[in-house]
Formats: sequence, C-alpha cells, structure tokens
Amino acid sequence: MKLFKNNSGLILVIILSIIPIIIWLFMKPLADRFTSFGMTFRSLGQITGLLGMALLSINFILAARFKFLDKLFNGLNRVYIKHHTIGALAFCLILFHPVFLIIQYLFISLKASFLFVFSFQDLALNLGKIAILVFIVLMVITFYLKFKYENWKNTHKYLGIVLFLSGLHMFLIPSDISNNTTLKYYMIILAMLGACSYIYRTILQVYKKDEYQYKLEEIIRVNDDIAELKLSSLSKRMRFLPGQFVFLRFQEKGILSESHPFSITSSPSDDHLSLGIKTLGDYTSMIYLLKPGVTCSIEGPFGSFSYLKGESKRQIWIAGGIGITPFLSMARQINTKKAEFNSYNIDLYYSVKNTSELAFAIEFEQIARQNNNFKFHPYLSEKDSYISVSLVSKNEDINIDIFLCGPKKFMKSLREQFINLGFINNKIHSEEFSL
Ligand SMILES: Cc1cc2nc3c(=O)[nH]c(=O)nc-3n(C[C@H](O)[C@H](O)[C@H](O)COP(=O)(O)OP(=O)(O)OC[C@H]3O[C@@H](n4cnc5c(N)ncnc54)[C@H](O)[C@@H]3O)c2cc1C
Repeated sequence: MKLFKNNSGLILVIILSIIPIIIWLFMKPLADRFTSFGMTFRSLGQITGLLGMALLSINFILAARFKFLDKLFNGLNRVYIKHHTIGALAFCLILFHPVFLIIQYLFISLKASFLFVFSFQDLALNLGKIAILVFIVLMVITFYLKFKYENWKNTHKYLGIVLFLSGLHMFLIPSDISNNTTLKYYMIILAMLGACSYIYRTILQVYKKDEYQYKLEEIIRVNDDIAELKLSSLSKRMRFLPGQFVFLRFQEKGILSESHPFSITSSPSDDHLSLGIKTLGDYTSMIYLLKPGVTCSIEGPFGSFSYLKGESKRQIWIAGGIGITPFLSMARQINTKKAEFNSYNIDLYYSVKNTSELAFAIEFEQIARQNNNFKFHPYLSEKDSYISVSLVSKNEDINIDIFLCGPKKFMKSLREQFINLGFINNKIHSEEFSL
C-alpha cells in the first residue's frame, strides 16, 4: 500500500501510456498482427508510435508544475526527475517508430522504403518527418550540449512544436488506428491535455497570476558564499510547511528576472519570508546587487521535505553544505512552536568542509540550548573525513525517519549506508537541489 502511495504518480503515468496499447491489442487478433516479418515491423512501428506519443503528451503535463503533481509524485523535483526519464523514453520510441516502418517497407521493396523516406507528397507524413527532425535537434541540445541552464530552458520550450506537429501527424495519417474511434479520441485527448499544459505554462504563463508578491527587505551576509534574503509580503502571505521550497523571480531586467528554486529558511510563523542563497553561478552572484525595496514574485510552495511528513517523532536530519536551508526553517519552527514539538526528538548533523562554511551554526546552537529534544552536531569533513552513518545511527531503532539534504553523491552514499544497516528506504526522505 505504502509502495503504491509513494509511486502513485509513476503508476498513473504507466497506466495512461499503456491504455492505447491495450486498445490496440483488442482491435484485431494478435496472430493477425504478426503474420509476416513485414506485418511484425508494422505492428512494432504502431506500438512505438502510440507509446511514444502518449508519453510525449504526458510529459508536457508533468512539466507544467501543477500543484497536484507535487503531491502525486511526493515532491516537484521528483516530477522533474521522472520528466527527464520519460522524455528520453518518448524520444527513443518516437525515433524507432519510423525505423520500424522503413524496415516494413523494405520487405515490400527497396524502392518502397526509399519512397517512404524521401517522397514528400503526403502532408501527414511530412508533418511526422519534421516533428522527428525538430525532436532530434532539441534532444541533442538537452542531453549532449552542456548549455547554461537558462539557454537550455529556452531551447527546451520549442518542444511544443514537436507535440503540435506529431499530434497533427497522428490525427491526419490514415491507418487502422485512426479508424478506431476509441483509440483515436483517447490519443487526441491526451495530446490536447499536453498542449493545454504547454499553453498554460509556456505560452500564456497563466501560473503567474497565482504567484505571491513580496518585497526585498534585507540581504544578510551569512558568510563569504551565503546570503539570507528577508522578504515581506505585499499582498496575501504564502502558507507553507517548514522545509518546502519556492521559485523566486525578481521584477528586474536581465538575469535577475529568471525564476530559480530556493528552500525557505524562515518558519511559517515568522512574519517575513526568508531564503538562504549560496553563490554558485551567474544568477546567485547577482543577488548582492539587489537593493532593498525591489519586488519579486514567489511561485510555490512546493515539495514534501518536512519533518511534519515523517511518521516517527524520532528523527535524524543530515545536511551537507547549503543543504542546511530547509533544516533552518524546520528548526526555527521548532523554536516558535515549542509545545507542538515536545513529542519530537531530533538530532541534526551538519557536514561542511571547515568552520568558515558553518553558516547559521550560532542560531542552531541557540535553538538546541533552548530545546532539549533538539541536538545540533556540526561536522567538519576536512578534519574528520566524510560523515558516515555508523557515526550518527548508534543504537538507533531502524523505524526512525531520516531526512537528508546536500550534494547528490552525499545523499546517495548516506542512503545506501542506512539501507545496508536495515533502515527503511521509504522513511529516508531526501531533497535534491537540482531539477
Ligand atoms: C528544490 C530546490 C531547492 C533549492 N534550494 C536552494 C537553497 O535553499 N539555497 C541555494 O543556494 N540553492 C538552492 N537550490 C539550488 C539553486 O536553485 C541553484 O543553485 C541556482 O538556481 C543556481 O543558479 P545560478 O545561475 O547562480 O548558477 P548556475 O551555475 O547557472 O547553475 C548551477 C546549476 O543550478 C541549476 N539551475 C540553474 N538555474 C536554475 C533554475 N532557474 N531553475 C532550476 N535550477 C537551476 C542547474 O542544475 C545548474 O546546472 C535549490 C534547488 C532546488 C531544485
């Protein structure tokens, strides 16, 4: 049951994409579909086309950042991880679709196969060919060219053309599939849902009307690399769980107008919203140029990385570097809601290279002094090598909840170590700072 709940998003994607294949299977006896090599390749061409098109349409829905997806997939970053895999799969399937059909024509004659590729008389076929060419160019950019994130995001937007062209191709191409109204309308509805999501997110940007408006009050330099932005709300305040994240976009020209994800560091009970930002690239280094008073839009909240989502009240939190930010929001909440927190027992381990990187440590130590059931353990990896699970899990019950946030390798290694010691995978929560 828990397995189903944790993977409900993925299960739904599988069901939605498999439905056309089931309808296709019932359209005529299976034996008739594989009577010869030519027929077999034709059938494979149809299966890859249907599955590829279904996954492509679904992927546009996944990219629209709908709130229900966040819940369904247990966090928006998980949606993006699945979006990435499904995109690659849809690409392969759509690429194999004409390959199988070319082979099918080869069984008729070399000329038939040649004409299938190089004759441009048929509008429906031409639309399919252009869709595949555009898809190939955009996928090469996505997977192989190391573009800067914003350039990559801008080119990625043109994938809508692929959906549009391949949708038309599917609609116009005459075949036994288009004669089956159930299958035809199922595929059209799926493609329309994908197209509407694309229009909502990319063309009309309707989501912007739900963004919260905030004003920058202060930029607090925490250390050489990290700053905390304090924002005050200009309209209604955003409600969130401690540990969630938002997309921040300044109403400024140029790079600061980009939308970037950051974990909230304030507690939901604070009267301001704050974000802890580490300088990493061109956007994060521009933050320091902002003057108090500039306005920004906040989209969110997203994610389910919060101690409130843990089943057990005994929890171990482990942060690596800037991965400390969601824990800061949680710890601040603990400090303001002491009564609610009485039943919890939490140890926070904070791993950084050296003391100069120990951002917010003074505040964590203060919270720990004021709350007996919250313990803070700074850990310096330059001095003691990498933090290991044997250090943090002595005499622990394997049913406790564990929260990890930090670099990808750090979380992967710790998760594996916990699982090897018998801790429950579903109770190891992690937040990746990457989409
Ligand atoms: C859920 C989540 C929570 C995060 N929380 C924090 C936080 O609390 N504090 C913090 O300092 N950082 C956080 N990050 C990371 C932060 O979003 C990136 O460091 C920042 O966007 C980098 O931008 P840049 O242009 O300065 O760096 P670049 O060098 O341009 O980008 C570095 C990497 O950051 C990612 N990235 C860049 N731009 C974007 C964007 N617009 N949207 C999504 N990812 C992008 C890309 O993977 C890129 O390779 C979080 C990321 C995610 C996904």
